[in-house]
Amino acid sequence: MDLDRGAYIEIPNLLYDILKSVISKQSIQDIKSLFDHKHDDGIDQYFEYFVNNSYGFYTYNPVPFNPTETTFHSPYKIISSVITFDKSSRYDIADVLNQLDRLSCQLIQFRCYDYCSLDNLGKTLDSIKESSIRKVEIFIPHNIKYKELDLVKFVQKYPRTILIVFGAQEDKKVKVEKKSVKNLIYTSKKLSKDTKEAITLNSFTITHQMYYESLAYNTGLYRKVSIDTNGDIKNYISHDKVYGNVMKDSIETIIETDDFKQKYFISNNNIEKCKDCQFRHMCTSSSDITIKEQKFFKSDLCNFDPYSNTWN
Ligand code: SF4
Repeated sequence: MDLDRGAYIEIPNLLYDILKSVISKQSIQDIKSLFDHKHDDGIDQYFEYFVNNSYGFYTYNPVPFNPTETTFHSPYKIISSVITFDKSSRYDIADVLNQLDRLSCQLIQFRCYDYCSLDNLGKTLDSIKESSIRKVEIFIPHNIKYKELDLVKFVQKYPRTILIVFGAQEDKKVKVEKKSVKNLIYTSKKLSKDTKEAITLNSFTITHQMYYESLAYNTGLYRKVSIDTNGDIKNYISHDKVYGNVMKDSIETIIETDDFKQKYFISNNNIEKCKDCQFRHMCTSSSDITIKEQKFFKSDLCNFDPYSNTWN
């Protein structure tokens, strides 16, 4: 993985062993000897490939290049949250957002399963105008009442927002401002409570933070809290386990309990199948976890088979 550029390449196991010896600061000649000169040409070609693709460089002085620190630190009590709402919901969204802001939540995904006017969405966002929340992703179902120009103005007015319209006739991204990466996105995918999280090559995240987090924590569930349409507080929307309800419990009290935090610490390294997967440090699967015979398994199986290196 190239954590600086957010990129990765797949390599054979043998090359992994070779790279491990590089990390122990051996010269290229030493590495070739280590493998009894059976792979001299291959080693030269791979190293050239790395250099040509900016994954590495040659140096006479490897001393300053120590392995990086692998501890993950985060000052945030909650890093991300998924909130869902429909016409039957009775809880106070503004209050939930304010509680999340007090917990220093950085990313919010707000899924609105039924039509919600832009005015009402705007009032909700106004309640966190002064907050430190970095990004709010809003999912809305396609509706004839949403005019593109109004949606564009909405995203311009609330610049931390990414608006995604589900059930659209075509997939398209509308650039809202010339120099901005903020987009209004239309997708033909349907938005429903039963929609399963799709794990694909495009859903992976490659960052320093993600990598270090993945070494010790569950990257889909660590410091995440989700609120379903009833106001029930869960680790993630699709999970069955409910820890409380925002209409009677404070989110902070719930997330501080050992019971709620339990799944934070079950990293992909400890979960069957995932522990053998080459994508385990970039995969953000929020699947629930089951325990059988003292082994951990993901309840929602992804379509990748690490043993045959194929997607089904
Ligand atoms: S096997 Fe696990 S880590 Fe690999 S892609 Fe699937 S869910 Fe993610």
